[in-house]
Amino acid sequence: MLHLYNTLSRSKEAFQPLKAGMAGLYTCGPTVYDYAHIGNFRTFTFQDVLKRYLQYCGYAVRHVMNITDVDDRIIQNARERGVGIRDYTRHFAQAFFEDLEALGIQKPDQFCYATEHIPEMVSLIRRLEEKGVAYRQDDSVYFNVSRFPGYGKLAHIDFAGIKPGARVDTDKYLKEDARDFALWKAPREGEDFWETEIGPGRPGWHIECSAMAMKYLGETFDIHSGGIDLVFPHHENEIAQSEAATGVPFCRYWVHGEHLLVNSETMSKSKGNFYTLRDLLDRGFDPAAIRYLLVSVHYRKQINFSFEGIQHAAVALRRIHDLIDRLAAVRQGAAGSRSLAEEAIAKARRGFESAMDDDLNASEALAAIFDLVREANTLLDQDQVGEEQARDIEAFLRRADSVFGTFFRRSELILDEEVEKLISERRQARLDRQFRRADEIREQLVRRGIVLEDTRDGTRWKRSLSAPA
Ligand code: AMP
Ligand code: ZN
Repeated sequence: MLHLYNTLSRSKEAFQPLKAGMAGLYTCGPTVYDYAHIGNFRTFTFQDVLKRYLQYCGYAVRHVMNITDVDDRIIQNARERGVGIRDYTRHFAQAFFEDLEALGIQKPDQFCYATEHIPEMVSLIRRLEEKGVAYRQDDSVYFNVSRFPGYGKLAHIDFAGIKPGARVDTDKYLKEDARDFALWKAPREGEDFWETEIGPGRPGWHIECSAMAMKYLGETFDIHSGGIDLVFPHHENEIAQSEAATGVPFCRYWVHGEHLLVNSETMSKSKGNFYTLRDLLDRGFDPAAIRYLLVSVHYRKQINFSFEGIQHAAVALRRIHDLIDRLAAVRQGAAGSRSLAEEAIAKARRGFESAMDDDLNASEALAAIFDLVREANTLLDQDQVGEEQARDIEAFLRRADSVFGTFFRRSELILDEEVEKLISERRQARLDRQFRRADEIREQLVRRGIVLEDTRDGTRWKRSLSAPA
């Protein structure tokens, strides 16, 4: 049975959905003011594995993801470029969808744009005003945190010691208490705004997720997920404003993923230490290997990102691909040892499922897969794998890959030793005066992002930094 670490209880809990056989999942989507970076995609990829494993366990998953297409940065960037926020954000939303596809991340059942849900947010804010937990100041509306006794239960922060005036939110608006947060922001000079029943303005970020999650998944739903930076204040505020309005629990399992780091620092736009997926693809890295790197580490452990890490991922993936090729090459009608193959598969299945059931322990689940790879290779060496066994092993790998989504995606990444081999083949072709063949090899390498430089000491090579032609 699947157990998930719930940030709310700080413990692993057996997953029991509200409705038998169904799982409602809300994941906070990107703020589309720029291309998402590979750290963001670590979170989206782990959520994809969570969703796929729920499906593996037989749940019908309803997955909702928001697209934040209005916030301060968006308004500012769009204004600087002289375009409307819709035109500005649609470009980055489209890029985000393309990146999801490149990484094999399943599309949510429902994408929802903040700007298309203003009436839902306004009506939630009105409910909060009617209950007396929201107040107005300078035409903005704030949530009154002191009226919600459970505030801090997700982040496990005791606010008793925090004095009014200490800033815990970076909001530039004035409010009564430092913890209070904006539900609705009055328009500022030259900014886009909506005319609504609660006055002109635009929504705060937190209200967006509450309104959309409840619209599509109900007032109480199963799982809410994001990166750990979202625990506070974003998710804490979502809980406060949702539960203050409805009086029922908002979400039952809060699942947060650790960050991806570069040189021990969180990858982020503001630090400038980030790569987009596009940057990596332009450098010739393969999306299947990038996905493998992202999914192979337990989601509650940090990943230290490096190019070598992607290379190692490609090598690991290649071992699985090689086995799949060997299995495909088993002759039709060949006989083998049914019991040995069945035993190896059953052991791998047990290892895979018990690791994934234990809070999605992907690295252990993959270890079980690699045990099978090793055993299957040994059985193949001993001619113990017949047609039926080859089919069964492949079928198990496909089933496990319904979760990982990489084993059957061929790596386009060319490994160092393959480059070396092609370069020595090219050298030989030139010695043999087969210049056409030598040119062919050079072009093949260039297409795969490898730049050659012929020097007196031989041919040097490196991976190109720009997109292969
Ligand atoms: P944003 O577009 O900034 O709202 O972020 C989208 C998602 O990426 C959120 O779930 C964040 O928690 C997550 N995120 C941001 N930075 C990182 C990082 N360095 N590693 C992993 N996830 C991240
Ligand atoms: Zn959110």
